[in-house]
Amino acid sequence: MRPVAYARATGTAEAIAFVGADPQAEFIAGGTNVIDLMKDDVARPGTLVDITRLPLGGITPSASGVRIGALARMSEVADHAAVQANFPAVVQALNESASPQLRNMATIGGNVMQRTRCAYFRDVSQPCNKRAPGAGCAAIGGVNRLHAVIGTSPQCICAHASDLAVALLMAEATVHTRGVQGRRAIPLADFYLLPGTTPQRETVLERGELIEAIEIPTSVAARRSVYLKVRDRRQYEFALVSVAAGLEIVDGTIRAARVALGGVAPKPWRAREVEAHLVGKPASAQTFTAAAAYASTGMRGFGENDFKLPLAERAVARALAMAEGVA
Ligand code: SF4
Repeated sequence: MRPVAYARATGTAEAIAFVGADPQAEFIAGGTNVIDLMKDDVARPGTLVDITRLPLGGITPSASGVRIGALARMSEVADHAAVQANFPAVVQALNESASPQLRNMATIGGNVMQRTRCAYFRDVSQPCNKRAPGAGCAAIGGVNRLHAVIGTSPQCICAHASDLAVALLMAEATVHTRGVQGRRAIPLADFYLLPGTTPQRETVLERGELIEAIEIPTSVAARRSVYLKVRDRRQYEFALVSVAAGLEIVDGTIRAARVALGGVAPKPWRAREVEAHLVGKPASAQTFTAAAAYASTGMRGFGENDFKLPLAERAVARALAMAEGVA
């Protein structure tokens, strides 16, 4: 058993300063990820700074979108009328995540910060460059059925675990943070880092920088959106491949298209080539199938996960057809 100190934050600035100055300190809110990692001995914080009493909750709709406080619970967001009316893919992604008990506990900020489910990352007897830089990657040449097929590096091929982040990428959300240097607004598209030679760095956040809120702008495409999650079992399972798709259709022609993929990359992945082959085309099954063939552009399997390439194409075609059917 490793000793760990606990501190309840009473002010946001104080909490940020504390974690910013102590490399062994970590924020904790819902605790559904960090406690798991501590049980596996993957996370070894010296101090847990409990931020649950900070004023970072709430869901605030406006004419331009909705601002979701980082401490809002997943179930709270999924049940909110403004989110349901404007961002169906976000609601579906939340409801397809984890279990009801976890969704009642886990926060939005924690969800987008969750670590990979790579089994080697969570097994401290195995080499893992993310957990121990320079140790090697047991997944390359190992059991990699669930791993990424794009955006990988010779150091790490893990897949990102969040469903919500895929829907937020499609909806072009912005992450609002506060750190030692002040506040930042970071487009979610720029928030995550690919592993490259430093797989231990997963986001652009600096030490002590805290997510305050996530803002989702309203758009016609986000209102006509779906989240499709393909997985090994119906409940309580991570995605093999997932798709968040949104369409703006005017007089039968696709005016705007947004497609993001999950389960295929170390971060939520925007399928720009698919989008380019949708805009200006008639909204039809033929168009969706033809555009979806570009979903696997740039992908490369590692043996056990080769199936993700055709699966991504089929899932995108199906998600687009589902989005067309959204009233
Ligand atoms: Fe670690 Fe990444 Fe390799 Fe998994 S894929 S073992 S997280 S380096």
